[in-house]
Amino acid sequence: MAGEPQADCLFCKIVKGDVPATVVKETETTVAFRDINPQAPVHVLVIPKVHYPDAASLAAAEPAVAADVLREAGEVALQENGDSGFRIVFNTGAGAGQTVFHAHAHVLGGRGFNWPPG
Ligand code: 5GP
Ligand code: ZN
Repeated sequence: MAGEPQADCLFCKIVKGDVPATVVKETETTVAFRDINPQAPVHVLVIPKVHYPDAASLAAAEPAVAADVLREAGEVALQENGDSGFRIVFNTGAGAGQTVFHAHAHVLGGRGFNWPPG
């Protein structure tokens, strides 16, 4: 069934507690934890507890949970980095650099960012 945990999914294992992660915030529908290979002083991943392969398919199937991810991204940025600005990235598809196919928002802060991102 759509949204069900996948046995071979790393982030489903983090949701379940089978793979350890440094959790910075959790809600009924989301988990936020530090990226294992940080690209900025603040680099947190916000994921839905339900399994969808990317953020767009999450938003299509469960828009309320997608909104939860977005709200939590803002709350985590405030918690970790105050109001100095942050970037949210949803890599979507292997061609765009996605490597873990469970929807996630990268929340990045604590340094400057180029635009366009390249
Ligand atoms: P993607 O490339 O799919 O947009 O992002 C996946 C992210 O997951 C990468 O930034 C990578 O560093 C992070 N990551 C991969 N494996 C683990 C892990 O086991 N634990 C944590 N905390 N992050 C991971
Ligand atoms: Zn998953």
